[in-house]
Amino acid sequence: MTTVDLPLLPLGRGVDLTSERGVECPGDLPPASDPALVERARAAKDTLGERVFVLGHHYQRDEVIQFADVTGDSFKLARDAAGRPEAEYIVFCGVHFMAESADILTGPHQKVVLPDLSAGCSMADMAVLSQVEDAWDALAEAGVQDAVVPVTYMNSSADIKAFCGRNGGIVCTSSNAEMALEWAFDQKAHLDGGGKVLFFPDQHLGRNTAVLKMGLTLDDCVVWDPQKPNGGLTTQQLADATMILWKGHCSVHGRFTPEVVDKLRATVPGIQILVHPECTHEVVLKADLVGSTEFIIKTIEAAPAGSSWAIGTELNLVKRLANDHPDKNIVFLEKNVCYCSTMNRIDLPHLVWALESLVKGMVVNQIDVDDETERHALVALQRMLDLPGKSHRD
Ligand code: SF4
Repeated sequence: MTTVDLPLLPLGRGVDLTSERGVECPGDLPPASDPALVERARAAKDTLGERVFVLGHHYQRDEVIQFADVTGDSFKLARDAAGRPEAEYIVFCGVHFMAESADILTGPHQKVVLPDLSAGCSMADMAVLSQVEDAWDALAEAGVQDAVVPVTYMNSSADIKAFCGRNGGIVCTSSNAEMALEWAFDQKAHLDGGGKVLFFPDQHLGRNTAVLKMGLTLDDCVVWDPQKPNGGLTTQQLADATMILWKGHCSVHGRFTPEVVDKLRATVPGIQILVHPECTHEVVLKADLVGSTEFIIKTIEAAPAGSSWAIGTELNLVKRLANDHPDKNIVFLEKNVCYCSTMNRIDLPHLVWALESLVKGMVVNQIDVDDETERHALVALQRMLDLPGKSHRD
C-alpha cells in the first residue's frame, strides 16, 4: 500500500482547482466595508428573479442567510435544489461537497455556484479518493474486502460518493445513518459471521451510530488511519472488526468535551444537553439528546418556555436559535467560541460578487461534477433515497 500525503495547504493559499481549497476569487470582490452591500445583493437577486435560487446552510452567517430562499442541512438543500428545475442558477451558500451534491441532483441545464471556492470542509478533506482506494486494496489483501460495504457520510467529496456507488456502497446523512448501516449489513447477511462496514470520513458519526443505535460494542470498531501503513491495523484486527471507521472528524464538533458537559450540569440546574452526532462518543454519552441540525432545530422549537439548553453544534446556528427563542435559555456548549471557518468564508461580498456576475451573464465559481463521477455518485445517493421507513430528514 502506498501512503498518500494529504495536502495540508493553508486554506485560501495556492491554486488547486481539483481540490476544495485555495483558489483566488477572480473579478471585482466588493470591499466588506461597502455600506451598500445589502442593497446590491437585493437588487441583483430581484433582477435575476426566478432564474436564481439561493440556498443557505444552517451554519451560514446571518448576513448571508437573509438572502436564502430556503435554509436547511446539506441533504435537504440538495433536495430543495432538485425541486426547482426552473431555476437556471443555484447559488449554494454552504461548502464545496454540498454544492457538488446539488450539482449531481439537479438537471444539466442548471448551474451551481459556490460564492467562494475555498469554502471546503476539513472533514470531507480527511478522506481523499486515493487514500480510500489504498484502504480498499488493503482490505482485499487481508482477505476481507468481499465482506465489506463502504458507507460514506454526505460530508464527502463527489468522487468518494462515486467510489461507494461503484463498490456496492451507500451515502448516509446524520438523520439516516442507522438505516444506511442496516441496509449495508443486510447486503452481506448471507455471509458466515455477517458483513463489515467501512465508514468514512467521520469516525464519530460511525461509532455513535454503530454503538448507540445498532447495538455493536466499541470492541467491534477499529479506526483506519490513512496516514499509517495498512491503516495502522493488523490483518487479524481487520478480520475481527465489524465497523472499520475512517480516522476523520469535524473540527468544530470535535471541540466539545465531556468535562464541559459536567461543568454546565453543575452550574445550570435542569440544563439539557443537545448535541450533533459528529461530537465524540464521550460527549454523546453524556448528552440528553443527539441528532442532526434539523432535529436540533425542531427540538428547540418544541421546547417549553423557560427551559434551558446547551447546544453542541456550529455557533451560527446556536446564535440564531437563541435569538429566535428569547423565551428559552440557550447557550453554546463550549465557551471557547468556534465558528466553522470554511462555512464562514461565504460572506456578503462573495455573495454580491456571485449574484452581480450572474446579472452580467457571467457564471463564476461553477461547481461542475464530471459525468462519470456523477453517474456513480448518483447510484450511492439513490440507494440512500430508496431506504425504507423514516424520512431522510428528521
Ligand atoms: S461544521 Fe464540520 S462537517 Fe460541517 S462544514 Fe464545517 S468542518 Fe465540515
